[in-house]
Amino acid sequence: MKIAVFPGSFDPITTGHVDLVKRALPLFDKIVVAVGVNTQKKYLFSLETRLGWLEKVFEDMPKVEVASFENLTAHYCQKIGARYLLRGLRNASDFDYEKTISQLNDIVGDGLETIFLISRPEYSHISSTIVREIIKGGGDASPFIPKVIEPKI
Ligand code: ADP
Repeated sequence: MKIAVFPGSFDPITTGHVDLVKRALPLFDKIVVAVGVNTQKKYLFSLETRLGWLEKVFEDMPKVEVASFENLTAHYCQKIGARYLLRGLRNASDFDYEKTISQLNDIVGDGLETIFLISRPEYSHISSTIVREIIKGGGDASPFIPKVIEPKI
């Protein structure tokens, strides 16, 4: 069974994340969208809120599971039997960052493969950071977040 983990903060999930998962569905038997919990990091939305949104967004995609994990992503993958990581690339700075992480995960995860999908042009400007800035500034973030979570933001 080909299992991929799509790790992230999803603070909050954006339409860019959703597009990536949809495009990756034919490649895997199961995709675990997993919220990585870093105790040092400050989040805008609570873990419960973020997980609740993920459950709603992916409820009509039977191949997608939602979870959260602490500590190393590679160890989490080993624990659940996932041999693949899914990540998105929007631009060159994503690439620089992701390259190092994927090389580390290959070693730490004992051959854990990262599969990258280049974001579609219409999503490449969207990030959770931008969405958080819009929300904090009192703007309308609805063009960037899935419809099902929109009313709650
Ligand atoms: P992290 O905290 O690990 O950066 P994010 O939730 O911000 O987590 O992102 C998780 C993954 O989703 C990353 O691989 C990122 O490149 C990808 N991603 C984020 N936004 C987009 C987008 N608009 N299009 C495609 N991929 C995206």
